[in-house]
Amino acid sequence: MSVPDLRIPPFDLLTPVIALWYRADQKFGLRAFPRPDRTRSIGSSDKTKTMSNKEPICIAIAGATGVVGQTIVRVLEERRFPVSGYIPIATEASSGADVEAFGRAWPVQTPAEVDFTGTDIAFFTAGAPLSKKLVPRAIEQGCRVVDNTTAFRMEKEVPLVVPEINGSLVKPDTKLVACPNCTAIVLVMSLAPILRAAPIHRVVVTSFQSVSGAGREALSELDRQTVADTRHEETEIKALPKQIAFNCIPLIGDTRASGYTKEEEKITEETQKILEQPGLHVVPTAVRVPTRVGHALSVNVELGGPLDIEGARKLWKHAPGVEYTDDIPTPLDVAGDDTVVVGRLRRDLTRPHALTYWAVGDNLRKGAATNSVQIAELFSQ
Ligand code: NAP
Repeated sequence: MSVPDLRIPPFDLLTPVIALWYRADQKFGLRAFPRPDRTRSIGSSDKTKTMSNKEPICIAIAGATGVVGQTIVRVLEERRFPVSGYIPIATEASSGADVEAFGRAWPVQTPAEVDFTGTDIAFFTAGAPLSKKLVPRAIEQGCRVVDNTTAFRMEKEVPLVVPEINGSLVKPDTKLVACPNCTAIVLVMSLAPILRAAPIHRVVVTSFQSVSGAGREALSELDRQTVADTRHEETEIKALPKQIAFNCIPLIGDTRASGYTKEEEKITEETQKILEQPGLHVVPTAVRVPTRVGHALSVNVELGGPLDIEGARKLWKHAPGVEYTDDIPTPLDVAGDDTVVVGRLRRDLTRPHALTYWAVGDNLRKGAATNSVQIAELFSQ
């Protein structure tokens, strides 16, 4: 299985008109499908970091055939993580297939047949039910686990880690670390530098979340709906609650008794846990938008003391994994990169100590795979 380019629609699904436009874009740069300009400084990532001098280890990935699982492999390869053995885990439907990784093919195993004995680190990214069932067995069999699902994130004794912020929570004997929600990661990466300068009282955040955040099926649905809609045909709605092509959906996850969705609850609770601010007021609205990769956040933050525009810019410029830009940071600018990029910083003119800004990050990389691999690197230190 090869890793698809998640930023560009598959060619065979495009209508002839879009295909023509796409070809013109490729040839003459008409920007029908704008690509990040790699010569600009927005979203430059730290792909030079390498683990090649470490002892080779055996890894497993539950969810290996999904968009996050495949991105974990890509990030491990880029960072030259020393892998001597690999167990890709997926459902019965994928069993028997081989996945390409680390220079060779590996047979997919199902949860029922997998044995973690001899495996050093397992990444779990196949939904909370599987993690709840299989993570205890992996740990019992001597494996250290990075879990990228909701299964353990809010458990008190499980560290919820963004290495740039609270990597010190990973100790030599830590067996299980939870990787936060993709939107929460982009939010805390932008808030943590501010918090070091002034107390934060309240955060109002609206997220514009890409379709890859809902997984492989949702991405295919976006492609099919885009083609059907441009042909004026009926669109099929399965993976998401409403048509996503040429639309926005202000509902991600189930609605809770509070009126907020599960995704919005995660943004609030995980932000409070990572920043160690249990009383922090967070007012989230999560919106699915028809971008393929990259979550964008509009953030209004109310502080307990003064912080001017220049001071905030400097904090972001000096924070690891964050950049401030005077350009217009978009999801496409960061797709494929590991940096969270902040821009459009303004004073909130209605409050004495409040700022408003925009932040973008690749949900599959820093929002999931890169953050998970960074945690695994902490295991290996
Ligand atoms: P995806 O593209 O739909 O892939 C799901 C993966 O999980 C596939 O490999 C699938 O195997 C496997 N899987 C599902 N149920 C399984 C089971 N019972 N036993 C074994 N394997 C199973 O989804 P994704 O976007 O990669 O997300 C995976 C997880 O990461 C979810 O828990 C999600 O909440 C979390 N996450 C996603 C993002 C994101 O931006 N997408 C960010 C942070 C966290 P088959 O191929 O055989 O179906």
